[in-house]
Amino acid sequence: AAPLKVCIVGSGNWGSAVAKIIGNNVKKLQKFASTVKMWVFEETVNGRKLTDIINNDHENVKYLPGHKLPENVVAVSNLSEAVQDADLLVFVIPHQFIHKICDEITGRVPKKALGITLIKGIDEGPEGLKLISDIIREKMGIDISVLMGANIASEVAAEKFCETTIGSKVMENGLLFKELLQTPNFRITVVDDADTVELCGALKVSSMRQANATPSMAGLNVERQSSATSSMAGLTLIASPVVFLIQENIVAVGAGFCDGLRCGDNTKAAVIRLGLMEMIAFARIFCKGQVSTATFLESCGVADLITTCYGGRNRRVAEAFARTGKTIEELEKEMLNGQKLQGPQTSAEVYRILKQKGLLDKFPLFTAVYQICYEGRPVSEMLSCLQSHPEHI
Ligand code: NAD
Ligand code: 13P
Ligand code: CA
Repeated sequence: AAPLKVCIVGSGNWGSAVAKIIGNNVKKLQKFASTVKMWVFEETVNGRKLTDIINNDHENVKYLPGHKLPENVVAVSNLSEAVQDADLLVFVIPHQFIHKICDEITGRVPKKALGITLIKGIDEGPEGLKLISDIIREKMGIDISVLMGANIASEVAAEKFCETTIGSKVMENGLLFKELLQTPNFRITVVDDADTVELCGALKVSSMRQANATPSMAGLNVERQSSATSSMAGLTLIASPVVFLIQENIVAVGAGFCDGLRCGDNTKAAVIRLGLMEMIAFARIFCKGQVSTATFLESCGVADLITTCYGGRNRRVAEAFARTGKTIEELEKEMLNGQKLQGPQTSAEVYRILKQKGLLDKFPLFTAVYQICYEGRPVSEMLSCLQSHPEHI
């Protein structure tokens, strides 16, 4: 068979770290074509085009400075050109750009292509919450796997040992991406989502039958209804145990607030644990039954939560927010040099759906993070909301 051509859609902090892994792996494995295309959102850095810098100096000096990229990773600024003959697509952009990107390339990617998304976040559209993987799958009609784990990009780029999780409906596809991405210091577990997805398919039927159900009942139901039924059932989620864990970025904002308030390690551990309980509760409500606790023990679960609450950008910016009183937007600009936060936006998306379903009181941590970020609630109230957490009542 012809070697598989890989395109990386995105070239930020994580995208560049992953490009380093993929570029090196394809050189060793016959099954993959030796040139890897990487779509770069073009911009001028120090008077030069970022694509030229990457293609000549082999370093993404803006988003992953200090790490050389393999020379077979070729930066391409035209998105359609980057994806057009790809067999494997790796999506790794901040989640707010996903619609725009998918719309631009729909119809240009061969239907037999396989995708994997490394994107954290959730989308809120007219039909309710939607997972990023589903947006890609629906818009492009290709199979999509998901990769998430305790993976701070700079540490992965420095080849420090870590683990990650791939969730895949088609095990074979998950294993193919594992070949593409695993290294001695980036160890991958593949989790099979097939049962989950089938079960959700079954739930869909019942949700359509109960289109007039009360919000709390309808809230348990899932996706792929026509917009008419889904607007009544309210939600458009399909389960993937791995991607249900994206709220870790909200918890990391909460952990950063505690650091800013100088709360101490016990408090931070409590925030991490209560955040985990809310993540589990959220997954259970929005994806009935089949989210097993075992998934939370994968790297995409507790481990990602811990590393993000200690070493992530969301934590760092939230700490500065508590100390300086500047807005999240100002701090993102000031501190991150073009990199994007996912936590505050995800808290807003999650907040709106919880409010609509009358569930805010069951999620005091998620709620507080949203209100502190966007509604002027004092940071110190992070703690008062934890004092009335349903876990202790
Ligand atoms: P980043 O935070 O570095 O984001 C900046 C990227 O967005 C740049 O490539 C920039 O060119 C691009 N961009 C800016 N404006 C744009 C626009 N209008 N349209 C399209 N692109 C635009 O990105 P990242 O760290 O690679 O994160 C991508 C995803 O990976 C996120 O969902 C993130 O949560 C997730 N993730 C990140 C890390 C990490 O440590 N950085 C680890 C795991 C997962
Ligand atoms: P931040 O986006 O908060 O840096 O988190 C990185 C991450 O998700 C590690 O898995
Ligand atoms: Ca994170």
